[in-house]
Amino acid sequence: MTIQTIINNAVKRLKAEGRLLTPDFYAEAFCKEVEHAKMSVEDCNHVEKFKNMLSKDFQKDLKNYRIKTMSEFVRFLISKLNRTNPTQCSDTLEAQTILCKRALQVITVLHNKEAAELAKNSIDLLENAPTPEQLDNFRQRWVNFLTTYDDTFLQKLKSFGDVDSSDLQKTIENLQVFKAAESSENETINLQRISKLLVASFVPSIASSVNDTIANVSEKITKNPAILDDDNIEKEIKSAISLRIALDKGSVKEMVESIDGVLDKLSLRLIDMIESSDNSNAEIQAIKKELELYTVESSSNFKIAHKKLFTIAVALEENTQLLSKNLKGHNEDVEALSKRVKKLEAELEEAKKESKEDFLTKLYNKRALDEFLELKEAEYQRYNRNYAIVMFDLDHFKDVNDTFGHEAGDAVLAAFAKILKKEARSVDIVGRFGGEEFLALLSDTDMQGGVTFATKVLKHVEKARFMYKKQRLSITSSAGVSERAKHVSLQATINSADEYLYIAKKNGRNRVEYKK
Ligand code: GH3
Ligand code: MG
Ligand code: MG
Repeated sequence: MTIQTIINNAVKRLKAEGRLLTPDFYAEAFCKEVEHAKMSVEDCNHVEKFKNMLSKDFQKDLKNYRIKTMSEFVRFLISKLNRTNPTQCSDTLEAQTILCKRALQVITVLHNKEAAELAKNSIDLLENAPTPEQLDNFRQRWVNFLTTYDDTFLQKLKSFGDVDSSDLQKTIENLQVFKAAESSENETINLQRISKLLVASFVPSIASSVNDTIANVSEKITKNPAILDDDNIEKEIKSAISLRIALDKGSVKEMVESIDGVLDKLSLRLIDMIESSDNSNAEIQAIKKELELYTVESSSNFKIAHKKLFTIAVALEENTQLLSKNLKGHNEDVEALSKRVKKLEAELEEAKKESKEDFLTKLYNKRALDEFLELKEAEYQRYNRNYAIVMFDLDHFKDVNDTFGHEAGDAVLAAFAKILKKEARSVDIVGRFGGEEFLALLSDTDMQGGVTFATKVLKHVEKARFMYKKQRLSITSSAGVSERAKHVSLQATINSADEYLYIAKKNGRNRVEYKK
């Protein structure tokens, strides 16, 4: 193949690839055709020739960038040349080395033994023109240091304050314990603890206020626990403690006195109240219960106890006032009532005087009987109308009362009266003469008539069933009879009846006696 054919083919190739016929594209196309024709043209081997003169790294770069043409080769070289500035490189390297050394020097003073030693060795290395291998070795040693670095020891400080691992200085400054410069670490910690305890013990447990002197000592110890080592502080602590006790004592005294006052008042009120009212009063019971429920627990709080007692005292006071008011009201009522009772008694007395009826038996009473006797006597004297008197007296009536009670006695008297009334005629006058004695005043009746009447009554009484609470009582009566015509006066007639009644008793009771 001739060179002319190669030239023609190169032009054709450019046309086929649509490229312009520039010198560079032409040269590239020409060399490709030369290669295709397996020919060797010197112009196409320039790159290969110069390539072998470059370092292996550059040769690698040429391959990576696929540098084929001379012009590409020239551009490659120019860019490499532009980037290579030996003076700048060495300046930079030196500056970096110095920076590295300074950093290492800083590490030597940073309180870490291992890092400081490694830093010192690194500085030595840098000063003795290290080989890349040596540098790499130290780089590895620093990596090792970092991976094995353990800062958990910082956690031990936590009990004394906040730990800031990014700023140890700040951490150390915040730890009070280390401020006590002369003390050893343990002693400082102990002092810190003791100081806290001491300051807490200075605070009064009962009194509400803290004394200024105590506050000053507390502040002093809190600020600098190391002061506890000082002999002079002992005196101050002693006086603070006595002050604290005095304050508490004072408060207790005050509280006890105030409770005492309330209790005094309370007891006085209670006594007053009990004296002026009956102690079954429900409110007193409630207060008693409340006091009983008073537990030690609640009394430990003086304020609550005081308040409670005070409330009770007030309640008692109100109650007492109410009671005395009530009592005054009652007194007035009682006075009014007693006046009324007196008035009623007087009225009753008056009524009694006027009454002719016996309240128990509903028969005529003694007063009425006396009046009737006078009337009959007057009739006797004016019209000569005879009359008989029968005196009855229940036998052994005392025994009835003694055995069955007064109430039973009353019931017997009432029952006897009914019998008497029943046996008497409507014109006869029967009445209670006194106690268990009865009198019958029989108009136009002689002795015989009187005896008949008396005998009838006695028989009836003997047969009658006197019942009291389902018990049968045996009742009998005796009687004495007299007739006016046989005596000189009313009184003599009465006396005779009475006399024969006595005789009837003497003769065995349950019988009628009269002057034969
Ligand atoms: P004697 O057969 O001798 O009459 O015996 P006596 O016990 O009936 O006679 P005495 O005179 O010793 O006692 C009369 C009793 O009658 C005494 C008195 O307490 C009682 N008496 C009088 N009036 C009443 C009354 O109104 N009610 C009651 N329950 N008893 C009365
Ligand atoms: Mg009698
Ligand atoms: Mg009698």
